[in-house]
Amino acid sequence: MNADGVRSARPIVVIGAGIVGVCCAAYLRRDGHDVLLLDREGPAAGTSQGNAGALSPGSCVPLAMPGVFGKIPGWLMDAEGPLTIRPRYFPRALPWLLRFTLSARPARVAKIADALRALHRPVFDCYEPLVTAAGCADLIRRTGTLAVYRSEKALASSESDWSIRRERGGELRAVSGAELREIEPALAPAYTHGMFIPDHGYTANPQRMVQALAGRFVADGGRLEIGAVRALEGAGESIAVRMEDGRAIDADRVVVAAGAWSGRVLASLGIRLPLETQRGYQVTIADAGVAPRLPVVVSEGKFYATPMEGGLRVAGTVEFAGLEAPPEYRRARRLLEQVRELYPGIRTERHTQWMGHRPCLPDSLPVIGARHGHPRVLLAFGHGHNGMTSGPVTGRLVADLVAGRKPFIDCSAYSPDRF
Ligand SMILES: Cc1cc2nc3c(=O)[nH]c(=O)nc-3n(C[C@H](O)[C@H](O)[C@H](O)COP(=O)(O)OP(=O)(O)OC[C@H]3O[C@@H](n4cnc5c(N)ncnc54)[C@H](O)[C@@H]3O)c2cc1C
Repeated sequence: MNADGVRSARPIVVIGAGIVGVCCAAYLRRDGHDVLLLDREGPAAGTSQGNAGALSPGSCVPLAMPGVFGKIPGWLMDAEGPLTIRPRYFPRALPWLLRFTLSARPARVAKIADALRALHRPVFDCYEPLVTAAGCADLIRRTGTLAVYRSEKALASSESDWSIRRERGGELRAVSGAELREIEPALAPAYTHGMFIPDHGYTANPQRMVQALAGRFVADGGRLEIGAVRALEGAGESIAVRMEDGRAIDADRVVVAAGAWSGRVLASLGIRLPLETQRGYQVTIADAGVAPRLPVVVSEGKFYATPMEGGLRVAGTVEFAGLEAPPEYRRARRLLEQVRELYPGIRTERHTQWMGHRPCLPDSLPVIGARHGHPRVLLAFGHGHNGMTSGPVTGRLVADLVAGRKPFIDCSAYSPDRF
């Protein structure tokens, strides 16, 4: 239905009801468009379900940093390390990895960091109208985040990352000793140094938040259908969505927000982008017996421990193994061992485990906008490790692009035509 309550013959179809698709649908609906949101399973069925929930306006360090090429052999050898490539998958991942290493050139890193900062900075402003309307503003907690280290030397070894953030206006405060424990009393004594990031926060339940936003979208007259998209058909001024059940839906425009699966939807149009899944794992521990106050990042182990509604969620690790390979849950169990070092006395018996697919483009930036030759198909995927943060910002940008308004932030760095 449009703003006058009229259902148009050709709605805007949003494919994918993860955080990105739901925010696109919500912002488009707020502009009065007739919007049909499609998901093969329902809201928050994909990666937006079980992530670490960190909302990080200052996060802007690209994944590919100078020297990354030399690290690849180690990733192949260490099946239990924080980053691993399954050897059998290596030939498939190789072209992506080569592009990844090319984006690690210093001049490129600076530009990517600028673009990430611009995309993440307005996260809370962009969530605010959506979560208020959906009645789930309580799920957003603006506690700050604490990165912890076992020595001053370890903290100093991350200085190049912190200075990338500082140069872009990120709020940071180095802390140690008593002050560190004042911020998070539950920490093990082995952690002696940290960086407090006061303007960061988290959502206490990403799944419930995405579902609440989708519920509000429907209450506001948006349409939500469960169904899998097989292909897109047409070009130029005409576009239709072909469903797995054979139906074709004529669309005014299509927003492809199917996360790590977006490439499959776009293949039918001949649009090929270097999208790779970086699989991540988490365990959520109920009755942990410790009650941390805020998300803690263990930089050396590259994992997050976030106090969630359902328990303490410990999330991290990167695994290159594609969309089909079954999860390797020994990686999740490794996270349990690590969190026992972070919070001594923690009880971990009651836990669930989960694996999700981070949709990653090699330059750490998403694609937001139309590809040359396909003006009616807007791409909104590739949000990588930060989609909970950049989802609402993307939603607002997509609504600006559809309305023909000047985007509220410059979105040229996210153009799909850069590939
Ligand atoms: C372990 C882990 C921890 C993370 N921690 C954080 C964090 O702390 N902070 C942060 O900002 N980000 C984090 N992320 C990243 C974040 O979760 C993702 O960037 C984000 O969820 C991606 O959202 P999305 O909407 O693009 O994709 P998804 O949530 O995967 O949604 C895509 C949707 O498309 C649907 N779909 C797919 N194919 C089709 C089809 N053919 N037809 C119809 N529907 C289809 C799927 O069912 C799915 O619901 C983490 C990720 C992982 C794995």
